[in-house]
Amino acid sequence: MAEFTMELNDEQREVRDWIHGFAADVMRPAAAEWDEREETPWPVIQEAAKIGLYSLDFYAQQFFDPTGLGIPMAMEELFWGDAGIALSIVGTGLAAVGVLANGTEEQIGTWVPQMYGDANDVKVAAFCSSEPDAGSDVASMRTRAVYDEAKDEWVLNGTKTWATNGGIANVHVVVAVVDPELGSKGHASFIIPPNTPGLSQGQKFQKHGIRASHTAEVVLEDVRVPGSCLLGGKEKLDERLARAREKARAGGERVKNAAMATFEASRPAVGAMAVGTARAAYEEALEYAKTREQFGRPIIDNQGVAFQLADMRTQIDAARLLVWRASWMAVTGKPFTSAEGSMSKLFASEVAKKVTAQAVQILGGNGFTREYPVERMHRDAAIYTIFEGTSEIQRLVIARTLSGMPIR
Ligand SMILES: Cc1cc2nc3c(=O)[nH]c(=O)nc-3n(C[C@H](O)[C@H](O)[C@H](O)COP(=O)(O)OP(=O)(O)OC[C@H]3O[C@@H](n4cnc5c(N)ncnc54)[C@H](O)[C@@H]3O)c2cc1C
Repeated sequence: MAEFTMELNDEQREVRDWIHGFAADVMRPAAAEWDEREETPWPVIQEAAKIGLYSLDFYAQQFFDPTGLGIPMAMEELFWGDAGIALSIVGTGLAAVGVLANGTEEQIGTWVPQMYGDANDVKVAAFCSSEPDAGSDVASMRTRAVYDEAKDEWVLNGTKTWATNGGIANVHVVVAVVDPELGSKGHASFIIPPNTPGLSQGQKFQKHGIRASHTAEVVLEDVRVPGSCLLGGKEKLDERLARAREKARAGGERVKNAAMATFEASRPAVGAMAVGTARAAYEEALEYAKTREQFGRPIIDNQGVAFQLADMRTQIDAARLLVWRASWMAVTGKPFTSAEGSMSKLFASEVAKKVTAQAVQILGGNGFTREYPVERMHRDAAIYTIFEGTSEIQRLVIARTLSGMPIR
């Protein structure tokens, strides 16, 4: 009979406690400062690199955890520490995954180490897909990559926006249109090596939350990269485009499903980030409610407060279970027949927004000040329902998957 357990094994517990230690001892004390500075916390990233927490090896180990829980566990602990700093630490992973998923062995070996640098000289990487007119509607992307056959070079032009680490990255991974006829199936990803002429940082955004994470526009003006910078190589691209053209003529369903499966597998990681922030705010609120006295008794003595905390914790645990289910499904190759990955991201991100707002309320006036971390956590939580597909887009995906109808 198949064994069923929801207990983390010894190794997982050890890794979780190790990350938690870093989150509590290094990230938490630095969180308010970097939030105010609205700058990338390089010294904290360097600390993470020194202990091996900021490295490809670490993420690869978690990624290949056969239970699927390695990544969600790591994300929850890091984002429990601080969401802005955590995104600065894991943002490079988004670009690295782009290369790992689509790159050749040579590309992985060449570029991924340059994304991280080393403990003495840390680097970050950026994944640039979103554009001013192509957010939820990825198919309307305009950044164009044209092949210059004579020189075996690709020439990229366009403007990317909202890029985490955009402009300060050592390596940028840029998604661009190679065949405008094919919509999102005519896109390809390119490595833009360090110091490539034509790539510049546009506006750096001043944000509502996760302010320690750098977010900016990336402008590409006649950016020339060697043919070897096309992820996966030209031959594979040509084959893929030919298949996409054929499938588009035959209805396009299978190509669409492959792309959907990738998102279903990556979205639980964002759900886990949201669980981390929600849990952090809940813990602050619980502690506060037990110690703050009004009317001669701790405020948790009132059902109005205690029941809120009960609901907060119940929703956080439910969110984690959805995240863990989807992560387990991804690693064991189960089909996402009900868009379970999107469900986990939708639910966890909405829970984070709600729970952090409740935490502010439970701390009263103190919750409204920057003296207490729930104020920052509440601002940070707002990102989860926006990036990696907004809540509305998750609902669209779930509804389409459940109904098989082209709901708009
Ligand atoms: C801090 C931050 C970091 C980011 N990091 C990156 C990054 O590293 N790389 C990257 O490529 N992108 C990144 N993004 C971009 C992010 O993924 C997009 O912001 C997101 O996909 C939404 O796109 P949009 O902002 O253009 O909103 P829009 O698509 O314009 O949406 C606006 C509103 O309309 C709603 N809406 C749109 N279409 C529909 C529909 N069909 N049905 C119902 N409602 C709809 C949306 O849900 C939303 O509420 C980041 C964004 C932020 C804010």
